[in-house]
Amino acid sequence: RHITLPDNQANDELMMLGNTFNRMIDRLQDMFRKQEQFLADASHELRTPLTIIESYASLLRRWASSNDQLREEALEAIVSESAQLKLLTQNLLSLTNTNRTNCEQNTEFDLIPLVEQTAASLRVTSSRDIRVQSEHNMKELPMTGDPYQIRQLLIILIDNALKYSQKIVDIRICVQEKQVIIKVMDQGIGIAEEDLPHVFDRFYRSDKARNRKQGGAGLGLAIAQHIVQKHLGTIELLSSLGVGSTAIVTLPQTCQ
Ligand code: ADP
Repeated sequence: RHITLPDNQANDELMMLGNTFNRMIDRLQDMFRKQEQFLADASHELRTPLTIIESYASLLRRWASSNDQLREEALEAIVSESAQLKLLTQNLLSLTNTNRTNCEQNTEFDLIPLVEQTAASLRVTSSRDIRVQSEHNMKELPMTGDPYQIRQLLIILIDNALKYSQKIVDIRICVQEKQVIIKVMDQGIGIAEEDLPHVFDRFYRSDKARNRKQGGAGLGLAIAQHIVQKHLGTIELLSSLGVGSTAIVTLPQTCQ
């Protein structure tokens, strides 16, 4: 509920206090709205695989003994939807602050082999080319943070670049004034200007039908942003429809 101050009586200080209070109320209301939307989206995403599992399980109960093909199909769907559910719950968990495998560990690690190894394993699983280049051909780049989470961040960005493009994916690494800059670039479908401001929102997909088929729940970039923020860094996505996208991550070399 907003405070209304009588113009003619209120002195400037009281007016300022009232305005600050009203702004706080607006922000709180906005936070509650977002939280509600998050719960609604999460429930929806959890419900879809659960409904499929439920339907196939009841089909199994009725027809499993008499129809081999149906049994195989049902078991396959149940296994794959369960995997989807597991991934979704893991992703939801990594978006909460109660997950303590974070930058608090603050280990020293070498970014170059971490990027190389992550790119190598994604090259194998995707059978696509991923090129890694570092400024001055750096062979090592010591930094602090949580290497497990930085790897997860790289996987999300490279996986998106692979998902939304057919051509080679480029990763560039450089250091500027103790800030590590990682760029993941693709020459893919790009993102429409109106979608770009929302891509870091939880559960946001710019093309819902297409992306559901590709398996994304629209949580990848939200998790990426969460990891970057925990490392006191920044992340942005530059994109041009039909030309490609570049994710730019800036991380302090030492995460305090
Ligand atoms: P998803 O799991 O759907 O990929 P993300 O949070 O990673 O979710 O991305 C949100 C949306 O942003 C995607 O659904 C896609 O529409 C868009 N997007 C993200 N990265 C790229 C990219 N490299 N090229 C084109 N679109 C992208």
